[in-house]
Amino acid sequence: MSEDYVYIRDNLGEIKRKVAAAAERSGRKAEDITIIAVTKTIDADRILRVIDEGIVNLGENRVQELCEKYDIINRTCNWHLIGHLQTNKVKYIIEKISMIHSVDRMDLALEIQKRAEKAGRIIDILVQVNVSGEKSKFGIAPEEAMELVRGIAALKNIKVRGLMTIAPYSEDPETSRPVFRGLKKIFVDIGKENIDNIDMGFLSMGMSNDFEIAIEEGANMVRIGTSIFGQRHY
Ligand SMILES: *Cc1c(COP(=O)(O)O)cnc(C)c1O
Repeated sequence: MSEDYVYIRDNLGEIKRKVAAAAERSGRKAEDITIIAVTKTIDADRILRVIDEGIVNLGENRVQELCEKYDIINRTCNWHLIGHLQTNKVKYIIEKISMIHSVDRMDLALEIQKRAEKAGRIIDILVQVNVSGEKSKFGIAPEEAMELVRGIAALKNIKVRGLMTIAPYSEDPETSRPVFRGLKKIFVDIGKENIDNIDMGFLSMGMSNDFEIAIEEGANMVRIGTSIFGQRHY
């Protein structure tokens, strides 16, 4: 067994224990939480290691990288686009993607609708909300999220499945807690509206440094890269 294999297996074991404990603290079970292995910059060999360990959800933040790996990996798994998506790149992923986490504007939704209709697919998406208000972050402003969701609800080849956010990076993961709590509140508020064609089921929040806090605050999808694979080398 290679060193990489043991390293990844041990890291995943540790993460699964932490996910289970955090789920329990929030009155849920480990199975309620989807772990997305974030594979950006990670080579195919190491991606296959996590698939061997039972991971079926993979996250990429760049379209080109997703497409390249999709062809190489060639195994049954779900690909999540978690990074900023340019409208002119939607066409490259429309046949490949299981979920797009980063829908933050109507013109992007309209392009996804157009391409999805052509491909005969219904695409699951999350609306990305910039809860922290950081200028460097993509995502719709919290007060505009409801209106965007209502707009997307009218598009028949798109299904809104929930919300996503990225907390500002900090040494102290506790600083993410109010951001996660803020997204949960928007999630609940939108859910209460019972909008047709909207199914608020997924709350994608939490990364390597703050996923336990995200789960405590209601996340059921966590996006984890570094804690599985180690520091990325660009
Ligand atoms: C890279 C990335 C992650 C994973 O970050 P880690 O700190 O390596 O766990 C999660 N979400 C998004 C949107 C990312 O771009």
